Amino acid sequence: RKETMTKEEALKTYFGYDAFRGGQEPVIDALLSGRDAMGIMPTGAGKSVCYQIPALLLPGITLVISPLVSLMRDQVTQLVQMGVPAAYLNSTLTFKQYLLALERARAGRYKIIYVAPERLETEGFQSFAQAADISLVAVDEAHCISQWGQDFRPSYMNIPAFVEGLLRRPPVGAFTATATPEVQEDIARLLSLRNPLRITTGFNRENLYFEVRQPSDKRAALLELVRSRPGKCGIVYCSTRKAVEEVCALLRERGVSATRYHAGLEPEERQRNQEDFLYDRALVMVSTNAFGMGIDKSDVRYVIHYNMPKDLESYYQEAGRAGRDGLPSSCILLFSGQDVRTGEFLITHGEPREELDAKTAELLRERDLQRLRRMTAYCRTQRCLRQYLLQYFGEFASDYCGACYNCLHNFEEVDVSREAQIIVRCVAELGQHFGVGVVAETLCGADTEKIRKFHMEREPSYGLLKDLTQVQVRERIRFLLDTGTLQLSSGPYPVVLLGKPLSADTPLLMRVAREESSFAKRRPPEELDDRQSELFSRLRVLRASVARRQGVPAYVVFSDKTLRELAVAWPQTIEEFRAVSGVGDVKAARYGKAFLAEIDRFSR
Ligand code: ADP
Ligand code: ZN
Repeated sequence: RKETMTKEEALKTYFGYDAFRGGQEPVIDALLSGRDAMGIMPTGAGKSVCYQIPALLLPGITLVISPLVSLMRDQVTQLVQMGVPAAYLNSTLTFKQYLLALERARAGRYKIIYVAPERLETEGFQSFAQAADISLVAVDEAHCISQWGQDFRPSYMNIPAFVEGLLRRPPVGAFTATATPEVQEDIARLLSLRNPLRITTGFNRENLYFEVRQPSDKRAALLELVRSRPGKCGIVYCSTRKAVEEVCALLRERGVSATRYHAGLEPEERQRNQEDFLYDRALVMVSTNAFGMGIDKSDVRYVIHYNMPKDLESYYQEAGRAGRDGLPSSCILLFSGQDVRTGEFLITHGEPREELDAKTAELLRERDLQRLRRMTAYCRTQRCLRQYLLQYFGEFASDYCGACYNCLHNFEEVDVSREAQIIVRCVAELGQHFGVGVVAETLCGADTEKIRKFHMEREPSYGLLKDLTQVQVRERIRFLLDTGTLQLSSGPYPVVLLGKPLSADTPLLMRVAREESSFAKRRPPEELDDRQSELFSRLRVLRASVARRQGVPAYVVFSDKTLRELAVAWPQTIEEFRAVSGVGDVKAARYGKAFLAEIDRFSR
């Protein structure tokens, strides 16, 4: 039935999603019609769907060229979970495994084959590719072809010759998450794309909060950040192996379940630690930038950089590993002047790259230094951090996002005289008997147990400040406490008392964030109630045991987002289960029964 399936049906059947995200549809349409396409989309935007759906709908095989070994494995695992026959060909296979995979590929067993760029030239692969019906070539991490990019790989230069050498030139899709305008030009030119459709989706990741701190004691700052996020999954990036060791030891010493990853560890340990993190056996991963390429763990709630990375491309890519499920997450960079000197040293004294001639090497070094300077400027700017990042990638952005440290701490003075009079009147009306909470609830016109108990709704000041949030009213009360207009009684349950009278003719100026707590307001509405979160936890337990039995990470079975939706939707039938975002046909068939049974047990 595949021949007659539409792209929407494929999205629902295999991936379990109802709608395409921005940019996906035009890219898919172009590739299906035989046109080349170039997708510049930030991490987590859903690039893979752009070539996986055409791969499912086109008659032949799709080759995905990717330099990232772990990404290949992760994606192939996910595809197989969804019922798509897929395989990868890279250096992690033994020669025997490689030959076997090629033989199966020749027999038409796979719809999607991931291949490392170095493999394209090999004889075995060439003879396969010449005989195969290749419908599409997707080039992942396409910025690797550019010397302007942060990750130039000479093996990418072989791709255009490989494509042109095929019996019939298939459409080519090029994808990357980080490309400045220069790099985008290089990709189109060096890959010899033919009149490609260009799609650049917003780099903005609304759910990410950005902050740079320059603490005098990084260790203490890090501990505080990690401890204030108990039970949350996070990544801490360090610039050296030594720092990874120290930071990981520090966290463990303080009882944090942390593991580590860097190139100096034995491959077995690296593999084990990575899996501990993916399978939620360790909550915090401390690592060098070697970790994370192609890791699609969707519930990473924070990414902390213990050292400044070498450029903004790396930073945005690494920070972007937070919050891939779209829920609020934080990206915090701990900066020090030493980071700049280390960065410069690594560029000027770094290991020479043998595959480059002297002139190219010198040019790349100069560009590396330029990028380091832009990275440093990010750490020092007082401007909106999001705007800085987006402009770097050539995108327009307003100078105020309301969800980065700089925006939230860019205060302005507001005249609160009228509000102050109302607050003072309320405190007097309530007979100076109540705490800050009840005063704020009364002024906001809240309907809480205490309000009802004391009949606050009958007070004249009830609801007079209902245009403000309770947080804002509390801030104003706190401000009046600071200025002595109000006072707090001592004792375990302090109540608000009247203090100095307000002066009638001088305005009362208070500093507030330019757009107060707009990030808090933007929190998605899916806060679960008690019953729902109980069900959510039980579904997580079930997911863990299902995943263990299959030997895959939990998020590969269902994402947190999907479990959340299940906990809210409370499906009773397989059709209702199927309607939940993230449930495709194969997963519904494979897991539907177990999850419905768990929901049913919970309902009774
Ligand atoms: P990228 O490669 O751009 O970093 P992925 O392709 O890994 O991003 O997609 C990120 C996440 O978003 C994945 O969990 C993917 O399944 C999900 N996703 C992709 N497209 C959609 C869609 N149309 N609706 C809902 N989720 C999607
Ligand atoms: Zn901002």
